[in-house]
Amino acid sequence: MGKRPLKLLSFNFLRPTALFCVMLTILAISMHQRVYSRLWHEPLDVVVYPINGDSTLETHNYIQSLTHDHFAEIDQWMSREAKRFDLGQPQPLRTRLGEQVKSHPPLLPENESILAIVWWGLKIRWWVWRNTPDSESNLRRVRVFVSYSSEDSQLPHSVGLQKGLIGVVHAFSLDSQTSQNNIVIAHEILHTVGATDKYGFGGQPIFPIGYANASRTPLHPQRYAEIMAGRIPTSSYSAYMASSLKSTRLNRLTAREIAWID
Ligand SMILES: [Zn+2]
Repeated sequence: MGKRPLKLLSFNFLRPTALFCVMLTILAISMHQRVYSRLWHEPLDVVVYPINGDSTLETHNYIQSLTHDHFAEIDQWMSREAKRFDLGQPQPLRTRLGEQVKSHPPLLPENESILAIVWWGLKIRWWVWRNTPDSESNLRRVRVFVSYSSEDSQLPHSVGLQKGLIGVVHAFSLDSQTSQNNIVIAHEILHTVGATDKYGFGGQPIFPIGYANASRTPLHPQRYAEIMAGRIPTSSYSAYMASSLKSTRLNRLTAREIAWID
């Protein structure tokens, strides 16, 4: 009779202690990742893991057709931008195609409470750990999971986590979309190394922080999209999606956020 409350007490005590230890470990790893991923003294490794998001043959065939070359323009674009900012590192990124992942990542909660986000953060880390169980160090490796769908419908939000160097991208499995997919992948990679979003309501780039060239005269139309805004402003209330990374740039604020400049 007397043992039962004791068991309950120890269980109730152990559960938060274990959670606290997990959180502490994640925090320690995240702090290391934050430092090492932004040194830029050598290329940052990026692995893209494709997922058949809608379980269709069309998406299966698209994934089978993927090669490293499909993502080469991301590295080329980063090299071009690094040169503009005199980074002194000719190849900031080294992106390669990883194995197809057969399971689906947990979706971001619609409920944006802090608790729901924290819980999702733990779930996604667990899911990533379960689905990339290799022995490579993740201190300087960004893992981007790209869930492809063939249907022309609204895709769930893509996300890039600086804590964990993890990106989850929702993209279309169409050849005509490959270039725009690379914009989204580059955007999420930059989130993982500290860049913040620079668009506001309805996806409109925020002036001046979401403009590639905020001092251009006339201001509109802009020639390029700022990568963390994603759209090319044609006026203060209209913008269109860049068609490829060739039409995007990163501005000084983003360069500062990813520790390219002081
Ligand atoms: Zn974003």
